[in-house]
Amino acid sequence: MSIRYRSFGPPIVKLKRCPCSKWPDRVIIQGKAPSKWMSVGGDCCGIWFVDFEADDIEDKEELMVKAISAWNCAPRTVYETRREKLKRK
Ligand SMILES: [Zn+2]
Repeated sequence: MSIRYRSFGPPIVKLKRCPCSKWPDRVIIQGKAPSKWMSVGGDCCGIWFVDFEADDIEDKEELMVKAISAWNCAPRTVYETRREKLKRK
């Protein structure tokens, strides 16, 4: 069994929308730290995770920057209802 590492951090930059149709306020970093690969998810649903190269980084802030950029760069499809679309405008 591996040790789970979870950290909740305030976003440095604006986070992109999650495929669950919500905007996360914070990101969740999951994985064993330090390790080569970790995953990042949003605090909205906690379902959609993106793997990113953590490069054995131990520094929390540095890891957060990497995680957030991975979150924002990942391709996604967002489905939204008509009502949500109207509310957005
Ligand atoms: Zn979500």
